Amino acid sequence: MADIVVIGAGHAGCEAALCAARMGLDTLLLTLNLESVALMPCNPSIGGTGKGHLVREVDALGGEMGLAADDVTLQSRMLNTGKGPAVHSLRVQADKRVYQLRMLNTLFAQEKLTLRQGEASEILTKNGAVCGVKTLTGDVIPCRAVVVCTGVYLKSRIIIGEAEWEAGPQGLMPATRLSQSLLDLGFTLRRFKTGTPARVAENSIDFSKMTPQHGDEPPTPFSFMTDRPLENKIDCYLTWTNEQTHEIIRQNLHRAPMFTGAINGTGARYCPSIETKVTRFADKDRHQIFLEPEGMGYPEWYVQGMSSSMPEDVQWDMYRTIPGLEHCVLTRLAYAIEYDCIDPLSLTPHLGAREIPGLYLAGQVNGTSGYEEAAAQGIYAAINAALYCKNEAPFLLTRDQAYIGVMVDDLTTKGTDEPYRMMTSRAEHRLFLRQDNADLRLTERAHKLGLASDERMRRTEQKERETAELIRRLENAGLAKPLRQPGAALTLPEGWEYSAGAKEQAEIQVKYEGYLQKEMAQIRQARAMEEALIPPDTDYLSMDALRLEARQKLDAQRPVSLGQASRIPGVSPADVAVLMVWLKRQNSQEK
Ligand SMILES: Cc1cc2nc3c(=O)[nH]c(=O)nc-3n(C[C@H](O)[C@H](O)[C@H](O)COP(=O)(O)OP(=O)(O)OC[C@H]3O[C@@H](n4cnc5c(N)ncnc54)[C@H](O)[C@@H]3O)c2cc1C
Repeated sequence: MADIVVIGAGHAGCEAALCAARMGLDTLLLTLNLESVALMPCNPSIGGTGKGHLVREVDALGGEMGLAADDVTLQSRMLNTGKGPAVHSLRVQADKRVYQLRMLNTLFAQEKLTLRQGEASEILTKNGAVCGVKTLTGDVIPCRAVVVCTGVYLKSRIIIGEAEWEAGPQGLMPATRLSQSLLDLGFTLRRFKTGTPARVAENSIDFSKMTPQHGDEPPTPFSFMTDRPLENKIDCYLTWTNEQTHEIIRQNLHRAPMFTGAINGTGARYCPSIETKVTRFADKDRHQIFLEPEGMGYPEWYVQGMSSSMPEDVQWDMYRTIPGLEHCVLTRLAYAIEYDCIDPLSLTPHLGAREIPGLYLAGQVNGTSGYEEAAAQGIYAAINAALYCKNEAPFLLTRDQAYIGVMVDDLTTKGTDEPYRMMTSRAEHRLFLRQDNADLRLTERAHKLGLASDERMRRTEQKERETAELIRRLENAGLAKPLRQPGAALTLPEGWEYSAGAKEQAEIQVKYEGYLQKEMAQIRQARAMEEALIPPDTDYLSMDALRLEARQKLDAQRPVSLGQASRIPGVSPADVAVLMVWLKRQNSQEK
């Protein structure tokens, strides 16, 4: 018996399991293979534009990914520093295998958490609510809530040229039975696809023909809890494709699964394969390629930018046209993987199944792509599964509070027809939702849930106090005004001692004061719409003043608020106005 069963120990499942156990629930983490806990089957990096924000928010909530990333950092870079702080995004090269071991040890050391290797084959319900999980080997595990974090494994299929077979990533076994259980529970399943490049043997690479890419000095940590200085340990290398590469691809497009129809799954627009890039951007005579280390002292390198599912012979030819890879040995071929995932429109804004109390889903199974997107959903879904078990009100993050709120709202209100990747452009309030203030936005709420530690809360409060004091002193000393000048940077007078976090906050809050005030005004407006709650049993179909399409969409999706209703595709501003009037009348009648 467990309170919560988490299915799958990928990036979503690890965060979900730790979160549920840390909130005091007896938790079982059931996964296909304990060797692949926290596996990074694709890029050996954590973070990036928009993704870095999610990692910081997971950290601010008391999650693990940020801390683990700091422990395995090989190289750290702050992206977009040429632009404003809203889009500054941290990205680190991570030692994949050390990351897995680090996460595995953290999971095993966690009180109230048990790990087991096994395949979940069925989710059991009683009176329409979750009551247990059945395994392939016949065990029935009673529980009160389940968090499904099955990633890219549901009925997964590998495609390389004309070859295709049932398998998970990296030769691991697929999950073959749970898809049917989800269908039986009423979910709509789709086929999505993603792909990865080949890996090359380090001793077959000529790095002298590439441009080293160094990390930032000093490296910036992901976690607000990391005090120790981090170190850049290894470089990445930049090289390029060329006309020869492109010609080989063009000559073999008739054998490319992406174009022969062998791949049915929908791929990620923002992680295109090289064959897609060569056809989609035919005018470009070269594409950037980054050689990234898979681990310290580990003899394989990742070829970022060369994801593909071209036949083996074509892969050898095209990779060997790239400067520095002329004699490369492909230790693992590039491949595409197709898998089942659900339609996230069937989820609540808390990542619960609309029709099945106690069932939550997180990660790639919800139609997203990325370690960071998965980890963020994992902790969020588990918070709500834990609160469900405690019969407490759910935990909601809205678009004005967190990138997690933006992602979950996009998924559960607009849905997605392709693997959803987080980007800063998705967040309308991105000047407020920066990565540097995730702790100030989220830690207090996580502390109230018993998830963020007292020490984390103490640090957040100290940062807040220091920041307010520093801004006051800058104003009083007449130093705030010059700081607002374009290009001005914060320099403190002799003897003014403040933490790096407080200095960063003070500089941003002073320099962007006007923009932040404007954004806060928009947030107040948006918040009013989010707080205008709509009764769950509202009879939209009888509201003649609404257009037919809106009635049908609202009835199907049952938005929790006016704000969410306004974002449903097919619901016009005029429909929202009708709803607003109806809601006002409802509220006045109840008084
Ligand atoms: C080939 C490939 C290429 C990728 N390329 C990119 C990319 O370019 N960009 C990007 O952002 N992301 C990419 N990803 C995606 C990235 O790996 C995922 O987004 C991320 O790992 C998702 O995390 P998750 O926790 O949802 O699932 P996963 O990491 O897939 O983990 C799922 C876990 O569930 C377990 N499991 C599954 N079914 C069951 C079951 N029935 N019972 C028990 N355990 C089960 C599995 O063993 C696994 O441990 C790629 C993934 C692959 C495989």
